[in-house]
Amino acid sequence: MFDGPKKDTEKTFYLETFGCQMNVHDSEKVVGTLVQEGYRQVATVEQADLVLYNTCSIRDKAEQKVFNRLADYKKYKKQGKTFGVLGCVAQQEGEKIFERAPYVSLVCGSASYRNLPNMLVQIQAGGQRVTGLDDRETDECFETEFTARTNPHRGYITIIEGCDKFCAYCVVPYTRGKERSRTSESVLAEARQMADLGYTEIQLLGQNVNSYKDPEGKPGPNRGAKKTFAELLAAVGEIPGIRRVRFTTSHPRDFGRDIVEAIDAVPTLCDHVHLPVQSGSTRVLNAMQRLYTREQYLERIAWMKAAKREISITTDVIVGFPCETEADFVATLDLLDEVGYDAVFAFKYSPRPNTPSLAMEDAIPDEEKARRLEVLMARQREIQTTRYKKYIGTTCEVMVEGRNEARGQWIGRTTHNKTLNFIATAAPKLGGYGSVRITGAFPNSLLGELVI
Ligand code: SAM
Ligand code: SF4
Repeated sequence: MFDGPKKDTEKTFYLETFGCQMNVHDSEKVVGTLVQEGYRQVATVEQADLVLYNTCSIRDKAEQKVFNRLADYKKYKKQGKTFGVLGCVAQQEGEKIFERAPYVSLVCGSASYRNLPNMLVQIQAGGQRVTGLDDRETDECFETEFTARTNPHRGYITIIEGCDKFCAYCVVPYTRGKERSRTSESVLAEARQMADLGYTEIQLLGQNVNSYKDPEGKPGPNRGAKKTFAELLAAVGEIPGIRRVRFTTSHPRDFGRDIVEAIDAVPTLCDHVHLPVQSGSTRVLNAMQRLYTREQYLERIAWMKAAKREISITTDVIVGFPCETEADFVATLDLLDEVGYDAVFAFKYSPRPNTPSLAMEDAIPDEEKARRLEVLMARQREIQTTRYKKYIGTTCEVMVEGRNEARGQWIGRTTHNKTLNFIATAAPKLGGYGSVRITGAFPNSLLGELVI
């Protein structure tokens, strides 16, 4: 829970977050902003004056879930609480939220978060229908020095907001607005500040980090030459005190060889790339408007496989996209074998509002989508079982992330982004690093013992 400088009136807020890492990090910035405005974060809805709900609309009937949750909140309105909906469902449903849930006072999409202080003033003044919905065309990013980070060792930095790719199935360009990057000097200043605070791992975030375009910054002594994404990555990795740098998500179309060269050159850049493929069939990739073919995707995989260090590769897959035939699906299964992923996040296609694929007939029945998902996950489980076993007998460095009391194990993470649970004779420091000899392997984790 985050507390800030106490002001004369104490206002409290409760924030619940759903969705991707970007939403989680947006919430860290929203919390920091509220604390700066004199609010105190509390652990339950009951304790709060202001109840905020940071929403996700990437799949399923997300908006329906939001309305159901808001219906649960209705009973609290009598107690004088104020409600706000933030994030992708807020942007997608807009003022309709006030019609369906009249006790909501604030509806704000992520592109408008930088105006939150002003919106909070309006709410304090009794505003009933305060909105932040008109900023999707902005060039501004949500930059704040008051991020309330929840992890003291690994910190997230958004380098690019929005998305201009318009994949046929995806709501993100409509909910998060147009693509806009932060200046490299601002990103590097934040990274240096985090290193000074003791953070050793930094994760650069964006829907599409490798389409990063360093904008013209303010002239001045800090303004260096503009940086490409790979140069920015390397510069973050070279900050004294930073031991690990990760980045997510990469789009295959914009994934350049220079990223692999940066990983080769800068030891702090982690040996892991998440490169969502979505489908192994060029025909389906075309229909998805993904802007690359299976062959072009495999070319990027070949660059990574030729790297000096072994790079762990993970991906996202959608099964049951409207035109996906059994042969297309088999092509995706074959791609899993060909690449040898270390993790696959697979989803059933779900039609989303405003997206081009909504106009295509969602012809594949849910049971068939479910079958394809199950077959794909079973195949991937076999692949991971084989891949993870090869680590037995080797030693890996981990960052210590936690403790599983029930199992008497410590929880660590390798540079490959694998969970490595281990035993140790003396308690290791949380957030510290150690070498672990691997003694066992499961499809989703490794087991070992601390050696140093
Ligand atoms: N920007 C990233 C990219 O290009 O891969 C990921 C964005 S999205 C938050 C994360 C994943 O959700 C996507 O990679 C995709 O697999 C999945 N996804 C997005 N829209 C979907 C939809 N309509 N149905 C099913 N899965 C979807
Ligand atoms: Fe969505 Fe495609 Fe943008 Fe990723 S690149 S956020 S899948 S539109």
